Amino acid sequence: MRPTSGRPYLAIPGPSVVPDEVLRAMHRPAPNIYEGPLIEMTAGLTPDLLSVARTSGDVAIYISNGHGAWEAALANVVAPGEKVLVPATGRFGHGWAEIARGLGLEVEILDFGKQAPADPDRLENALRADTAGEIKAVLATHVDTSTSIRNDLAALRQAMDAAGHPALLMADCIASLACDRFEMDAWGVDVTVAASQKGLMLPPGLGFVYFNGRAVAAREAMARVSRYWDWVPRADPALFYQYFGGTAPTHHLFGLRAALDMIAAEGLEAVWARHARLARAIWAACDIWAEGGPLALNVADPAFRSHAVTALRIGAPHGTDLRNWVQDKAGVTLGIGLGMAEPGDPAWHGFFRMGHMGHVNAHMVQGMLGAVAAGMAALEIPHGTGGLEAAARVIGGA
Ligand SMILES: *Cc1c(COP(=O)(O)O)cnc(C)c1O
Repeated sequence: MRPTSGRPYLAIPGPSVVPDEVLRAMHRPAPNIYEGPLIEMTAGLTPDLLSVARTSGDVAIYISNGHGAWEAALANVVAPGEKVLVPATGRFGHGWAEIARGLGLEVEILDFGKQAPADPDRLENALRADTAGEIKAVLATHVDTSTSIRNDLAALRQAMDAAGHPALLMADCIASLACDRFEMDAWGVDVTVAASQKGLMLPPGLGFVYFNGRAVAAREAMARVSRYWDWVPRADPALFYQYFGGTAPTHHLFGLRAALDMIAAEGLEAVWARHARLARAIWAACDIWAEGGPLALNVADPAFRSHAVTALRIGAPHGTDLRNWVQDKAGVTLGIGLGMAEPGDPAWHGFFRMGHMGHVNAHMVQGMLGAVAAGMAALEIPHGTGGLEAAARVIGGA
């Protein structure tokens, strides 16, 4: 078989598949940045971005990836020497903590390992122990893409309220926005960080920082904020260039317009429901396969699994072998096992991830699962039979 024939499918957890509508919207000559369609379009992006996060707050756009948006968010509300608390449930929680340290913040980590969600009780206790009120913000990851754990942000907010602690709740929704249900205002999230290349279906290159009134107050109390990261002019620009702290990310903005239109046309609730059903189909297949071999879902409790990415354990060297097989023979690229073992450790080859975020539908997921089933058969990795049929029953409405 020639894997180069037909469409390749990048089934990694970001960057995700870019829809043709988005590609077409971006395929245009460089637009004028002083007048015309770009200027006329940009202000209209804000209300649609806000509705995707279910907030009536503000949003600032950065020309950055997710790491840049992490830094942007922190730079507006916490000053060097101040303290943040990080409930970590995987590589990305630790990654945000590293960005915080780099900004000169003091970081306390509550480590929940790689297979369990953040425990609200432990968060509450940690905040109660902060009698001096030193902790300025809690940096929570909604979906940690490395482990595929989905944390209960509303429960974390309740724990903060139960402790009577004034820290801001900051949420990394880079892997969850427009995939998993997220209600910024209803859940009491003060600052939300997102990026373009996952549920928003764009290439990497845009970072988003959403903020509410409590975060505005924290920003006003800062002695100094980097001119570039400052969200004030970006969210409320007097001049067009201030939206982006310089030249606009021209083509990304046309792509973003197309992506937001697609989400609006489908309906955000329907987008979430589609992701939920496709995720359940994947879990159903993996549960069956797990009965007869080494494959295992990383997160045991479905209530704490992402609907956008699924982390799997299969034992070394099967993870790497399977990834290579489906890429070379079937044109499907699966995700590496990020943060589960050190690269160089033979155990590293025992993990992989399926990305199912953004522009995905049933036949794409069923095709990916079919390729994995073929790979396990070809590589003689033991597995239970009937996984594809189990997935089909979920797709079919079971
Ligand atoms: C992808 C991702 C990031 C990092 O985004 P980059 O664009 O690679 O900088 C951070 N957090 C989460 C949860 C992610 O999924």
